[in-house]
Amino acid sequence: MLAFLLVAGRAYAQNNAVTLTPALVEAGSPELLHFESSRDARPDADWLGRKVLFFPAHGGHDWFALAGVDVEAATGPSVLRVVIGSGKDSIDLSRTVEIHPAHYRTGALTVPPKFVEPGPEALKQIEADSKLKAKVFAASAPEPLWSGNFRAPVVAPPTDSFGTRRIFNGKLASIHKGMDFRAATGTPVRAGNSGVVVLARPLYYEGNCVIVDHGLGLWTISMHLSRIDVKEGQHLATGELLGLSGATGRVTGPHLHWAVRWQDAYLDPAKLLKLDLSGVR
Ligand SMILES: [Zn+2]
Repeated sequence: MLAFLLVAGRAYAQNNAVTLTPALVEAGSPELLHFESSRDARPDADWLGRKVLFFPAHGGHDWFALAGVDVEAATGPSVLRVVIGSGKDSIDLSRTVEIHPAHYRTGALTVPPKFVEPGPEALKQIEADSKLKAKVFAASAPEPLWSGNFRAPVVAPPTDSFGTRRIFNGKLASIHKGMDFRAATGTPVRAGNSGVVVLARPLYYEGNCVIVDHGLGLWTISMHLSRIDVKEGQHLATGELLGLSGATGRVTGPHLHWAVRWQDAYLDPAKLLKLDLSGVR
């Protein structure tokens, strides 16, 4: 139910605040944003420096966006800016969102030295890889390609490794921006949701890598595969086979590294898998 109150020529929305799910917003958390509106215009929205792209659902009455908070985001209050229309008729649904700290661990691990101090040939490949990834992540489908809940890419035990601060060979520190599944080499890896394959090839650190675009700046990334079974440009349904897990790239052993990226933010895959999207689209 929508009602508008005209105050000094400006419409203020009542009963249609933007809600966030999960309601407790943590660093690394994916968030389903929602508001109700009878306007058919997509709002102008941004959060933490990233453009938020809402899409209409249920005949245009409901508006949703699948967004999130980067694992390295500063905690404290943030402004979620949402403005529908412009000028006198605009409706401002902006609100403050508190970012709570998530408690991620620290771990040390050992990998072959070539991954900590890559030689000149490797550096060339790493440079080419990062240019390619920048190109891939610069474009995404203009509408959501996902439908319903995300599902785990493998039948294998997940770990709580997302967000762990890692020390490689006692030197290089980085934050683990994905979720590791303990999958033996050869385990089928499936699309977590419907989308388009935008990268399917070997990379230096990622090994055999498949990136699926789910639209509006959301991707899932599967790394270290022993075999790739899809081609770039191919459309995938939820659960469709994209390859087999393995131990290619920078690994300590066979596993599936699965990452969720929204724009340039990395989100906790475990939290995305728990998010109920069944009634959205
Ligand atoms: Zn990993």
